[in-house]
Amino acid sequence: MSDFQGVRAVVTGGASGIGLATARLLAERGAAVAVLDLSPGELPPPLRGFTADVADDGSVRAAVAAAAEALGGIDVLVNNAGIGAAGTVADNDDAQWHRVLDVNVLGVVRTTRAALPHLRASVRSRPGATAAIVNTCSIAATAGLPQRALYSASKGAVLALTLAMAADHVREGIRVNCVNPGTVDTPWVGRLLDAADDPAAERAALSARQPTGRLVSAEEVAAAIAHLASPAAGSTTGTALAVDGGMQGLRLRPEPAA
Ligand code: NAD
Repeated sequence: MSDFQGVRAVVTGGASGIGLATARLLAERGAAVAVLDLSPGELPPPLRGFTADVADDGSVRAAVAAAAEALGGIDVLVNNAGIGAAGTVADNDDAQWHRVLDVNVLGVVRTTRAALPHLRASVRSRPGATAAIVNTCSIAATAGLPQRALYSASKGAVLALTLAMAADHVREGIRVNCVNPGTVDTPWVGRLLDAADDPAAERAALSARQPTGRLVSAEEVAAAIAHLASPAAGSTTGTALAVDGGMQGLRLRPEPAA
């Protein structure tokens, strides 16, 4: 497929996991892609890496400007960089709350703020086409998960911000949507499993929590992000697309005993 031919895309947190799978897929489908990450390292060609910390406004502005210059503009922004946190509301101190909200929520704000002039220019230069923002949210925004108070609060804010941004920019031709992944098999989840007392049992429990009985793949989330970013989704804005193996929407009866 080459539906992203001529499209210029920026993906934050694009050096690993969901972001890397998204950057690769957009490039495969014809986009010119800039990856913004803490240290992008060696990226598979033709991806171009730019160092950026979404918790630092100056760093984001410089990286977005450099990416726009290298790509010749920005038509698609994927706000994907994020960090996790475990615990109940009593377990994280104020510094941890500030840190996670700074990366997960204000990171979206900073990158979008820096990219908006480029997205507006994209709309002006391509009559009839929309520009698109896709935020990586989480099932933690819509379902109560144990031991995820801070992380869930951050992703709940991303969901609300997605809707507010969609309303603010719809008349400018900029669409804003998010994906809500369940548990995805990425290096992040690999680190969580490694830290568990019994990694195999933990993986089995996380897999069983999703009605499909397995973890979501990064490629499946990337496909959903690419759909929302693509011209085919020109009438889709202000939505959250679940990519969670049915975890949010389905209520199954227990499997009958064999
Ligand atoms: P990952 O750890 O594999 O990749 C995250 C990337 O973000 C890394 O390359 C990291 O360097 C980058 N990053 C972190 N902080 C950054 C910062 N301050 N500035 C710039 N880049 C930064 O994780 P992943 O599982 O691919 O997660 C990506 C996104 O998906 C996150 O927003 C996460 O909340 C969300 N998510 C993940 C899952 C899951 O189960 N893995 C589920 C739902 C949502």
